[in-house]
Amino acid sequence: MASNQFSDWTKVIKSTTKPDKETGAINPPIQLSSTFEQRDFDHFGKWDYSRSGNPTRDVLEDSIASLEHGTRGFAFATGMAAISTALLTLTQGDHIILTKNVYGGTFRLVTQVLVKYGIEYTFVDLGDEDALRNAFQKNTKVVYIETPSNPTLQVTNIADVAKIAHEHDALAFVDNTFMTPILQKPLDLGADLVLHSGTKFLAGHSDILAGLIVTKDPSLGDQVYFLQNAMGATLGVSDCWLLLRGIKTLAVRMEKESANALELATWLEQQPLVTKVNYPGLPSSPEHQVQASQAASGGAVLSFDIGSEDNVRKLVELVKIPVFSVSLGAVESIISYPPKMSHAEMSPAERHVRGITDGLLRYSVGLESVEDLKADLKQAFDQIK
Ligand SMILES: *Cc1c(COP(=O)(O)O)cnc(C)c1O
Repeated sequence: MASNQFSDWTKVIKSTTKPDKETGAINPPIQLSSTFEQRDFDHFGKWDYSRSGNPTRDVLEDSIASLEHGTRGFAFATGMAAISTALLTLTQGDHIILTKNVYGGTFRLVTQVLVKYGIEYTFVDLGDEDALRNAFQKNTKVVYIETPSNPTLQVTNIADVAKIAHEHDALAFVDNTFMTPILQKPLDLGADLVLHSGTKFLAGHSDILAGLIVTKDPSLGDQVYFLQNAMGATLGVSDCWLLLRGIKTLAVRMEKESANALELATWLEQQPLVTKVNYPGLPSSPEHQVQASQAASGGAVLSFDIGSEDNVRKLVELVKIPVFSVSLGAVESIISYPPKMSHAEMSPAERHVRGITDGLLRYSVGLESVEDLKADLKQAFDQIK
């Protein structure tokens, strides 16, 4: 594991670059072997079968553990595989409290899958301390946080919620996909387990699907390891290597994309067509203070409202730089329309109470020139009004 004395900018390089003692090759090999020959009948080596452990996957798992200031990392086939595995540390009769702004896939898992195995749930506004305290039951085992939330970028105070969870003998799990360990370290803020869709910023190039878990406490780490091996949704070796390559540029991408997002958000606030900008990096944002207390920046995702679905339809056709698709966190800018994409399953009423209005567009800001991104939106706005 990369020594914790290094800064993240050094760690993303050192933890992903491992010179091979025999060949001198500086990158970890893509170790495409499902099985490992054992030295002799009585002495087994470190690896035996790749579901249980693989040298390439080990480098990735150590890298993310070190970046998150945890002790163990675990790599999965997708973010949802990581989240499923983490939540299966619960047993029948247990109860989870989740942020009401949780990722749609997590919502589906909890309300349509885990419920079949007797795992109960309550969704609350984690910013409302009384509501959170009232949601605890005798059987509550986990409080599940996601911050900033998708797509309205609401911020949850991780330290406060983790403390309240611990007062009730529950653990705090944090989906850190939007921030990555470069911008926010939930374990340092008191969380017990960190989750990632590695598909997004960590991989960073819209190429692979991946998921990660990081733990600090050894016994929680043992439970996750047991489930990773028992359920078997591990990340393939080639994708482990691609994720390692993505992590090498994570620090520089997060810094530049966050700076671009702040500049774009500041500009959007001044546009007559824009009725609202959601971005926790803006000093004018109601979320700014908490965000600044626990994260290095507002991140690279923002959303804004341009009044109506019709305006969004026109904008999507008029912009020339961002791609119109689901997903986020890549080198290229990506715009999406939550009411018809990530939140299509919700009724308009359910969407509206969550601030997902008909004119809302999500913008994941990439590495293009921010001047070009502004000019591109401007020419579109000019043709709409
Ligand atoms: C995409 C995403 C997930 C799910 O990850 P997959 O890799 O698509 O399975 C979970 N949480 C958040 C916040 C996400 O953006």
